[in-house]
Amino acid sequence: MGLPTKILIGLLSGVLTGVVANALSLNWLKNILQALEPLGTAWIQGITMVVIPLVVASLMLGTASLGDLRKLGRIGGKTIGYYMTTTAVAVMIGLGISNLVRPGNGIDEATRNALSSRFEQDAVGRVDLAENAPGVVETLLNIIPRNPVQAAAEFDLLALIFFTIVFGAAISTLEFKKRDAVLGFFEGINGASVVVIGWIMKLAPVAVFALIAPIVAQFGLDLLRSLLVYALVVVAGLFLHVLITYTSAVRFFARIKPRTFFSRMSSVPLVAFSTSSSSATLPLTMETAEENLGVSKSVSSFVLPLGATINMDGTALYQAVAVMFIAQIYGIPLGVGEQLVVVMTATLASVGAAGVPSAGIITLIIVLNSVGLGAHVQAGIALILGVDRILDMLRTAVNVTGDLCCAAVIARSEGELELPDRGV
Ligand code: ASP
Repeated sequence: MGLPTKILIGLLSGVLTGVVANALSLNWLKNILQALEPLGTAWIQGITMVVIPLVVASLMLGTASLGDLRKLGRIGGKTIGYYMTTTAVAVMIGLGISNLVRPGNGIDEATRNALSSRFEQDAVGRVDLAENAPGVVETLLNIIPRNPVQAAAEFDLLALIFFTIVFGAAISTLEFKKRDAVLGFFEGINGASVVVIGWIMKLAPVAVFALIAPIVAQFGLDLLRSLLVYALVVVAGLFLHVLITYTSAVRFFARIKPRTFFSRMSSVPLVAFSTSSSSATLPLTMETAEENLGVSKSVSSFVLPLGATINMDGTALYQAVAVMFIAQIYGIPLGVGEQLVVVMTATLASVGAAGVPSAGIITLIIVLNSVGLGAHVQAGIALILGVDRILDMLRTAVNVTGDLCCAAVIARSEGELELPDRGV
């Protein structure tokens, strides 16, 4: 049995156990599931532990082996262009369906007030977090780390990518003896990271169970009912984005059969779904790109860490639907101009969101403010918080799928995609 199947079994049995505990109100089972949660958290911490050594070693090797800085610039330009375009398409899909279905229209005032007051406190915390976020200039300046060790310690991937590329490029100019000494070291670290990922992934099915079951057990089904249309619009949008945008990119640009692509990378969205974190999934994403899809190291080591940080199609699409939903509930019409602003700000806000759980709901506040919904930020966020966890899982699965599509497309365009005969 392959890894994706094992993870899927863990996931489904977790969902099933959670549903039983929830539907029958079995408190003893809920307590047991809750007690298992630290197992899942330990596992997430374990894979996250590999991210920094893996990204630095692999990107150092990738950059040094490019041998040509112009090539790096070209790959960088294409990658960012691809990421921005697909994210904007995702937002447009989200807006399109929200205009069609109008999910906010079915919510009466009593439900609105009940939901808002239930999550009021939680919403206040999120709004505070957003208010303390740095501005655009500061964010750009922060890409250049004053201290790379600090960037690593703070898990600031963008700054770390910048540092590593500069040093990788510098290493490639060194004389043979010095260059080999440094690259040999990073090859060792890279190899060791891959071994550790292998160990950690063996525990994935159990960990996924421990992560999912308590969430499902706690989930208020009544909440889902009142926010069902909204949640379904997000799900339908995500589905369409995968079906239309990704399938076309894979078929026409990466020139891989979509079925082959999706079956070889399926463990990545499953892990992203279970962890709600693109960053925690990154080691598996990189390994899958290289081993199962045959993407070269120089492409995957650059495109994927960058993608985990700046490419969030699922998040942007979700933000578009959430903004429309909140606007519809408060009876504030958003015209074409405002919806164009949503396309721009949701695309940029998803760049600013970190690849960690719930990051998208914090940057959603920026998008709400950009179209004059500032007065409804707190109540609006409170309104949708109840189903945010489940939507976070789904949008994260889409985010990482988008990263992998991009890696395949860019690798193909560089002549650096060699699909292995069989998936690993
Ligand atoms: N959890 C998402 C991710 O890691 C970000 C978000 O939408 O909250 O990709």
